[in-house]
Amino acid sequence: MFRKDFPLLNSDLIYLDSAASAQKPAMVLRAMDTFYRTDYSNVHRGTCHLANAATTAYEQAREVIATFLNTKPANIVFTKGATESLNLVASGYAKTLKPGDEVLVSIAEHHANFVPWQQACLSSGATFKVFNVLPDGRWNLDDFRAKLTDKTRVVAVSIMSNVLGVVNPIQKMIADAHKKGAKVVLDAAQSVAHIPTDVQQLDCDFLAFSGHKLYGPTGIGVLYGKTKDLENLPPYQFGGEMIEKVSVAKTTFAPVPARFEAGTPPVVEAIGLAKAVEYIENVGFDSLQKHEQDLFDYLIGKLQKIQGIRFVGDPVYKTGLLCFNVDGIHPNDLTTILSKENVCVRVGHHCAMPLHEFLGITASLRVSLGIYNTKQDVDDFVLALNKAIGFFR
Ligand code: PMP
Repeated sequence: MFRKDFPLLNSDLIYLDSAASAQKPAMVLRAMDTFYRTDYSNVHRGTCHLANAATTAYEQAREVIATFLNTKPANIVFTKGATESLNLVASGYAKTLKPGDEVLVSIAEHHANFVPWQQACLSSGATFKVFNVLPDGRWNLDDFRAKLTDKTRVVAVSIMSNVLGVVNPIQKMIADAHKKGAKVVLDAAQSVAHIPTDVQQLDCDFLAFSGHKLYGPTGIGVLYGKTKDLENLPPYQFGGEMIEKVSVAKTTFAPVPARFEAGTPPVVEAIGLAKAVEYIENVGFDSLQKHEQDLFDYLIGKLQKIQGIRFVGDPVYKTGLLCFNVDGIHPNDLTTILSKENVCVRVGHHCAMPLHEFLGITASLRVSLGIYNTKQDVDDFVLALNKAIGFFR
């Protein structure tokens, strides 16, 4: 139904790797192309009409993202991706954390929400704590509560893991963290394309995601922060546009969000991302979720019939993506054959080595769905997978 909107899928490609990056609808490509051809200029500098119009378009894109997350434009910082958004926050905290403070993350975090906090703790002397998941892939909430203390300054967790695919019980956990006086940083990189994100309802302190997993371009990400929390963070990078006044003796900084957008920002990418959001909103999360859930159930039903398949976690708790192994066959070998069959999936540790180590596996094969996938994709994939398995048995 939606596949026709995506030019790259106007072929027999079976693309089941949207968790790595989603394909782009024509309206996103068109908006970026038009802007480059007819409206392009840098923003926030110069007074010519082109620069003014580009600035307006860039700031309108910020408004679109703010509305999408149910917040105000001043709470939206454009970055180059979820990784940069998370590093921005963690590197700020690295300067204020002290020995005795604690940072709590889950074992299932992507390296982008694990390593920055580990390093912030290392450099500040704070304690890095990790809570576990259950064998079925859900968070171990008893372990979370046991490790959350009055010393916890930050809880940094993903709404949805890129390996387990479980939508975590974030709301409850945020309330628990706030009771202890901790700030909550959410990694929404995987969830943002599958479930609505309302930062006010969540009451999170920070939230990060990348444009490219939300049907937008690469090179753009978003950091949402509550006003006070953004204001309390030190600047991340220094340079043009993030300053208020510079002299030989000292520099004062622009108010947020400009303070965190040093240098030329991803102007065209912001416009592309706003279009991607418009695309999602035209589809509507209700139809998007129904389409993906029907397809996901269909996929699980087919995979469960394969002898020797071992899911990473229980599929019943997953949304939109799942990882698995097949007894006796390395997932790399499977994907080599799948690729020859025109099937794109992902193999490896998916930038979640601590989780793979915890689960006692070195790698897994990941299938992930996007709005454009069809039952035919699932049928073709399962056929190709059975063929690949047959080759090794
Ligand atoms: N967090 C999660 C859960 C992810 O899946 C990813 C991307 N795989 C990231 C963070 C990092 O996103 P990016 O590489 O776009 O910065």
